[in-house]
Amino acid sequence: MPVVNEDDTAYRLRYLDDAVLREKSENVKSVRTAESELIKALADVMVKHRGVGLAAPQLGVLKRIIVVHPSLLPEGADTLFINPEIVWTSDDEEVEEEGCLSLLSIASLLARPARVTVKYVDAEGRERELEAEGLGARALVHETDHLDGVLFIDHLSRLKRKQVRDHFRKLYRELGLGSR
Ligand SMILES: [Zn+2]
Repeated sequence: MPVVNEDDTAYRLRYLDDAVLREKSENVKSVRTAESELIKALADVMVKHRGVGLAAPQLGVLKRIIVVHPSLLPEGADTLFINPEIVWTSDDEEVEEEGCLSLLSIASLLARPARVTVKYVDAEGRERELEAEGLGARALVHETDHLDGVLFIDHLSRLKRKQVRDHFRKLYRELGLGSR
């Protein structure tokens, strides 16, 4: 049986039904030891798979580290968020398509806050806050959810969730990802 090697690195992308995606991640205590290789892998895998964000558990590592694509955030904003916490969400919401690399980018409409403030530690170990809106806010909430073992499908209706899961399983088989 041929093996799909595209993610066959130390930090392989994890897909739905991988138990690690349901675990709670641990706070990063010292940024100096905060895994420069892991951080590089997060950015690399996000870009390679044309994602707009990625969380460490999606590479099998239970640490509270996420990246968000710079195109979604205010110019010059950090794209690496260590120990991120959503500390404020707007009352107004936006409904947009949302997907996830761990679900092969299969997307579904989902309401999320239009704006959020995230508190986090940056690459230099400084505590910072960032306000983001639209798809940037959505990505921050989505990726931070991953650190608590929550997937976007958990927020969908039971029917919609089943549709996404079924679609995922079909595509996963077709791509031969289950044969590893
Ligand atoms: Zn995701």
